Amino acid sequence: MAVSLAAGDGIGPEISAAVLRILEAARAPLAFEPIEVGERVYLSGLSSGIPDSAWDSLRRTRLLLKGPITTPVGGGYKSLNVTLRKALGLYANVRPCVSYAPFVRTRFAGMDVVIIRENEEDTYAGIEHRQTPEVTQCLKLITRPGCERIARYAFAYARANGRRKVTCVVKDNIMKLTDGLFASVFAEVAKEYPDIAAERIIVDIGAALLADRPDKFDVVLAPNLYGDILSDIGAQVAGSVGLAGSANIGPDFALFEAVHGSAPDIAGQDKANPSGMLQATVQLLVHIGAGEVAARVQNAWLATLEDGVHTGDIFEAGLSKQLVGTRAFADAVIQRLGRAPRHLPVAAFGAAKPLKVELAPASAPLIGLDGVDVFLHWDEAARRPAALGERLAPLAGPEFQLQMLTNRGVQVWPKGFPETFCTDHWRARFVAAPGVSPDNAAILALLGRVHAAGLKFIKTEHLYRFDGKPGYSLGQGQ
Ligand code: NAD
Repeated sequence: MAVSLAAGDGIGPEISAAVLRILEAARAPLAFEPIEVGERVYLSGLSSGIPDSAWDSLRRTRLLLKGPITTPVGGGYKSLNVTLRKALGLYANVRPCVSYAPFVRTRFAGMDVVIIRENEEDTYAGIEHRQTPEVTQCLKLITRPGCERIARYAFAYARANGRRKVTCVVKDNIMKLTDGLFASVFAEVAKEYPDIAAERIIVDIGAALLADRPDKFDVVLAPNLYGDILSDIGAQVAGSVGLAGSANIGPDFALFEAVHGSAPDIAGQDKANPSGMLQATVQLLVHIGAGEVAARVQNAWLATLEDGVHTGDIFEAGLSKQLVGTRAFADAVIQRLGRAPRHLPVAAFGAAKPLKVELAPASAPLIGLDGVDVFLHWDEAARRPAALGERLAPLAGPEFQLQMLTNRGVQVWPKGFPETFCTDHWRARFVAAPGVSPDNAAILALLGRVHAAGLKFIKTEHLYRFDGKPGYSLGQGQ
């Protein structure tokens, strides 16, 4: 099967070469098409880091094995990892965190957790604005189809892989609408999988428990940002991020890579551990239904770890027997092809088929408009909320009433604490006057009055009601 191959930057070319040699020796049914993406492309002036020729190959093969990429800092370069995930619709990031005790040092013998991270949404939409001299904003976008797709994927994955529990990690006690949606869709989908336990946990205690009691977890499902952090915690406490592979799965494309980065500090020195990329390759083989070859590679690799043949990142005096470089590690795996580990569980992969996820039809809610939040840049000397409230309140009518002012989400007018620190960024909440059903024309007229009064509005958010439920949060202290 044809697979696009991006060797990557830093240690990428060395670990890719090592992995390719192992795959060739294992007679993996893969034909690689090299593509060039990454640092050299960025520095040639293409800020996406991905030339057209690479897209052509990806459209043909629909599969990518990718080495780590160095994203140059500054200079407006976009992370090509994020671009690839979004452009190719790779919504599910699957990161197994497995420990190999007693052969690789870890506090958690027997750890076997799979982190499933939503890969396209959340703050990674990359929509950021500086709105006033003092205030910046990053939009956290959580969509219903995005939540449903990843929740369905997590449960389908759990069932297909004999897992018993899915734990959804969110912060819905604070972000009631965004993380609340993620958690409520998770709960809806969970009802269709009575054979799999479902639990929800808040991310702060969830991360602490993953670092300290990973035995409490089986499959972990999380929105993008928490999933990114949790999967590094998981991989590190299992033994090393250098051992972890990652699959990025979408309906039409799939991308496989190590969890770690391009490690420029050891690049070109034949020191890097190729295991993360090899683990990603095993995931790729399973994904295309080549479970037998995947098991042959995995078992040879496990036997190598068991024999104490270790690269520097996992070498531990007393545990390890032979310190090797990248090439010699690959040789050691090749020598063990056909062997199985003696102590670690022997890997066996069925003829797994890629998981297909269908969204349930959704009914359109009834939408009503309750009012509008108008955000202002206002920086008069004392920043006295009452002074702003007194200027804005008379501008509200006839369609609206000024309900409150907040600063960084905290109510500061008409009620509030004089101690609250106020920035130059204010929100004025205008709600419909009694008996009025406002529309966009009413909002435009309101903005016209605010503008004519010499006040600077910088953005608005409509206050919608969906099937009678407010689609907006209250101000803190309201
Ligand atoms: P890193 O993962 O590259 O390195 C962190 C530490 O781990 C370093 O000390 C490194 O030597 C070590 N390390 C990493 N992989 C190793 C391996 N296979 N064998 C032995 N030691 C290994 O993280 P970083 O230094 O934060 O990032 C370096 C670059 O990689 C940055 O440009 C970053 O943007 C990029 N990055 C890319 C990806 C990706 O392509 N998926 C992921 C993470 C970081």
